[in-house]
Amino acid sequence: MMNMYRVNSSYQYACQLCHKPFSNVEMCQLEQKPDIELDPLNVCLCPTCATKFRTLRNNKYLADRLIDSILDVSENEIEENDHISVVINDYDFWFTPTHIAEIIELLKLKKKAIEERKASSQTVSRPKPKPTAEAPGRNIATSEQQVKEETLHPAAGPDKEDLQSDTSAYGELIGRRVFHKSKKAYARVVGCDGEYVVLNFESGDKVGQDVKYNLTMCLNNGWIEVVD
Ligand SMILES: [Zn+2]
Repeated sequence: MMNMYRVNSSYQYACQLCHKPFSNVEMCQLEQKPDIELDPLNVCLCPTCATKFRTLRNNKYLADRLIDSILDVSENEIEENDHISVVINDYDFWFTPTHIAEIIELLKLKKKAIEERKASSQTVSRPKPKPTAEAPGRNIATSEQQVKEETLHPAAGPDKEDLQSDTSAYGELIGRRVFHKSKKAYARVVGCDGEYVVLNFESGDKVGQDVKYNLTMCLNNGWIEVVD
């Protein structure tokens, strides 16, 4: 992402606030407490501006205004300008069109995920996607069963952008078979709402049980690996 602010292929980067070139820029997270760190959700700032920016970010009103102003940037503005200016009080952030388009996309996805999470927590009891009548200890699926699985849970779209995979892959995990690395056991994903993932273990000491895990922790620590 920093490469978007590189000055004429030198070792200097343009500060997004004071717009001068620096060799010692910092990447600052746009949001105070992001639940998942995503590369485009950063701004590239010189040390002085980074300090200034943290003051803004600590002020909830200004921080929310910054996010809202970014979300207000129209597609036309993005297409027609070589840089997009977002002004909050005396802060004038410059973004490259590609960068701001990525930020908007990710912020919208996050909003959607939060809304879906709220909607699903309001539903008292959601039916499980699939009753798993598998014998405990069985951990190798036959190829015939695998084919059946794939027709039951087709992949969502053939060409999703890499960017989106972090946030939009949640729902697609349901029905997938995973290997839990620290438990050294196989399990089927029976629930996932973007915050928690529920695993029904096929082996290991939790065999036959549904266990809930914090999805972010699993992703950050690489505990869960999709096997089929
Ligand atoms: Zn600066």
